[in-house]
Amino acid sequence: MRDRSLKEVRRILSAAGREQAETPDFPLYSFDFVDGSAELEALRAALRDLGIEWSEQFDHRYTDREILQAPLVLPILRRAPQGDPRFLDFDVSVACPRCGAGARQVGPIRFKGYEIRAKGGAFPMANGYWLFSETVAESLARFSGIELRQAEDLRSRQLLPWFQAIATHELPPMHPDSTGFTGFGCPRCARGGYFHRSEEPPMIVYDGAAVDVAGVPDVSATFEHLGWSRPEDLFFAQPSLIFKSRVVKALREAKVRLLQFYPVTVR
Ligand SMILES: [Zn+2]
Repeated sequence: MRDRSLKEVRRILSAAGREQAETPDFPLYSFDFVDGSAELEALRAALRDLGIEWSEQFDHRYTDREILQAPLVLPILRRAPQGDPRFLDFDVSVACPRCGAGARQVGPIRFKGYEIRAKGGAFPMANGYWLFSETVAESLARFSGIELRQAEDLRSRQLLPWFQAIATHELPPMHPDSTGFTGFGCPRCARGGYFHRSEEPPMIVYDGAAVDVAGVPDVSATFEHLGWSRPEDLFFAQPSLIFKSRVVKALREAKVRLLQFYPVTVR
């Protein structure tokens, strides 16, 4: 029974073929299946027989047309975070005294360059920083609302071939009909304290009276900050980046891998 279940798991996973997560330090693998498919049902049954633990995340894959026609798009980089940003300088005079949201990073992002083993043109850091390769950064430089700030090696203070993407325009708060997020917001500023829910895809809704899409730059940032902050360690959760479709096109042309897009609704 056990052998048969194990064979079944191997067969289904090898047919599924595509591992999605990069987890260099932890033996965790993820595979994509169509919800309700026979393969998924068979895999669940075989894993149950074997006593192997697993978790499931539900997502909706949009067509190119749906993404490119959306007024704004939320990008998610489906890679394990790499690197540890350290000894950054912040202007905290404008930050929320409770959660630190809004602390303004002054100067370059610094991390140990040799720790980065990223391929595919981009990688995220644990608190939501996005780093792009030189080639990708060059292709993004023409867009409005984005600052591409070159990273510095923590020890040598030499410039690294990575550029931090910083959005200079902040969107208003999401409409309460937005789904796929959890957290109640910081009681002081309502910006910090949000998280992605893994059970459902992130669907942002903006009130059209508050967001004039024509006036929003190509790259902007959510009002909400996602993830944990530790202000005492100068570790601040970051807002999500929001793109217009021309940025999506440029990132596709630059072949940035493991990047998923979710249409944002403005109504
Ligand atoms: Zn706050």
